Amino acid sequence: MQDTEAFRDSIGTVDEQGKRIWVYPKKPKGRYYNARTIVSVILLALLFGLPFIQVHGDPLLLFNIIERKFILFGIVFTPQDLHLFALAMITLIVFVVLFTVVFGRLFCGWVCPQTIFMEMVFRKIEYWIEGDGNQQKKLNAAPWNRDKILKKTVKHFIFFSIAILIANTFLAYIIGIDELFKIISEPVSQHFGGFVSLLIFSGIFYFVFARMREQVCIAVCPYGRLQGVMLDKNSVVVAYDWIRGEPRGKIQKKKANDPLDQITNTLGDCIDCKLCVRVCPTAIDIRNGTQLECVNCTACMDACDEIMDKVGRERGLIRYDSFNGIKEGRKKIFTARVKAYSGVLLALIGLQAFLFSVRSEVEAVVLRTPGMLFQEVADGYISNLYNYQIINKTTRDIDSIEFRLANVEGRLKVVGKVPVAEKQAIAEGAFFIELDRNTLTDRKTRVDIEVYAGDKKIDDARTNFLGPVVVR
Ligand code: SF4
Ligand code: SF4
Repeated sequence: MQDTEAFRDSIGTVDEQGKRIWVYPKKPKGRYYNARTIVSVILLALLFGLPFIQVHGDPLLLFNIIERKFILFGIVFTPQDLHLFALAMITLIVFVVLFTVVFGRLFCGWVCPQTIFMEMVFRKIEYWIEGDGNQQKKLNAAPWNRDKILKKTVKHFIFFSIAILIANTFLAYIIGIDELFKIISEPVSQHFGGFVSLLIFSGIFYFVFARMREQVCIAVCPYGRLQGVMLDKNSVVVAYDWIRGEPRGKIQKKKANDPLDQITNTLGDCIDCKLCVRVCPTAIDIRNGTQLECVNCTACMDACDEIMDKVGRERGLIRYDSFNGIKEGRKKIFTARVKAYSGVLLALIGLQAFLFSVRSEVEAVVLRTPGMLFQEVADGYISNLYNYQIINKTTRDIDSIEFRLANVEGRLKVVGKVPVAEKQAIAEGAFFIELDRNTLTDRKTRVDIEVYAGDKKIDDARTNFLGPVVVR
């Protein structure tokens, strides 16, 4: 029996010897491609523009993994917010899984930076300089003449320039636009590490878009690899309607003695023109069914719609639909699996919202200084030494900081001056608490401390006060 799934044993971009088969997709055109172009322009404008937007002198978005400082839409997250960050990551993963179960790889086709840069930036430049897929293939096979050298040089010069731009933007999200400008404008010797990072990132981006291309989606991207476990028969993906399309076959000319046009009438709507295969950037034939290589780029949908228009048949032979949608005409999105994921997702979002609402922008931590015992001081008072930290997550400095004892009568003496808690930084110091030994009822006394900035209470802290064993 013929193995109809044999196409799953290999990928279309590697031959039997394991050598790369370069893909020369035909330039797509159509309503989906136009819509994706508009979406891409908006997303690219956001990607390149957001690092320039600042709130109170800080970036709107910052992912400084080196200094463990993160800013999301003007809100500063420090390592103390790790639980929020971890929960946000879990929520994101559940959202991605839920989204994929329902809508397949819609993200890959419309939002993923790899697809946007590859198909909407680098590929468009390639079409512009080297022509359509067939012309590119011819040019690559041609000997190195003046025309080829010129085209290739211009193309790779532009590619590398864009890679440098992407690397700069990428770095701006990590270190902020101000630091990036310093690296660019000041002598290399002052920012050697930053300069080398820029070069490395530029090289990586150039390699990804000039050489790796679709292999990133096929062989590297973990999200792509997980499709097999996330998709089910109700997931909406770019799908070929095999019920309508099969058996496929070329349109035959009507025979004069066959008024009923019997040959054509026994065939499905697919005229086997293979245009859907020629436009595919991952070199697959979507008519074989959903495949891991498909990035849902919609190129085959546009191509097939164009053919259907030409032959006067209804559009949508290749369309967004699910396996069950095509087989049974049923469009069931809220399956038991989707409901279960939605429940978990809502619970996580609720928890995240709650934790976020109780999150304080300033945190005070007071700990008894390790290794120090209590001391007896004048007037019958007992003294303990404490270290404090004031974690300022806001975008403004906090001064006039004052500590007050809330639940006991006593004295609180700060060692030196209380420093200004600078924005997005930790202020540290020490103070003594002195309590009258006659007020101590136990070896350990709980002490509540209120932290004020001027008249405004900014946080509470709790600690213990050690004293001598009380004998009454
Ligand atoms: S473009 Fe449409 S008609 Fe042509 S081969 Fe593909 S599915 Fe068939
Ligand atoms: S099969 Fe269609 S949607 Fe999938 S990658 Fe190829 S052209 Fe894009």
